[in-house]
Amino acid sequence: MAPSISSATETKKVSLCKHSFPIQPPHGSIVRPGPCDCGLTYEQVQDELRRQAETLIANTAHDGTCEACNRERRVYRFQPEEQPWHPIGAVMPVSWLCLDCWNDSAQATNDLVTQLFEEAAR
Ligand SMILES: [Zn+2]
Ligand SMILES: [Zn+2]
Repeated sequence: MAPSISSATETKKVSLCKHSFPIQPPHGSIVRPGPCDCGLTYEQVQDELRRQAETLIANTAHDGTCEACNRERRVYRFQPEEQPWHPIGAVMPVSWLCLDCWNDSAQATNDLVTQLFEEAAR
């Protein structure tokens, strides 16, 4: 999980704009929000956030007790990804999980999101 280094200009652009993505037709939808006024698409911003999250996870991993299975393991920061229906800047709860539980939780979150998207697309 090597973090990729984004250019200084890119980082500056991201931090200057608070970003809002239209989820009302015709500009976008809850499943596929439209681009921000600054020109960045929802996907680009999510990619950047994911990179930042990966760096944070790599930098904060430590030995501790997994909150899910209570085993003494190397634990990693787990925070569910923000979704389009969360308020901008919403802070998701953080837990500390071993790699196995981290993957399980990530999978569970993905399944939930897929399910919600499928329901929204109906
Ligand atoms: Zn923006
Ligand atoms: Zn665990």
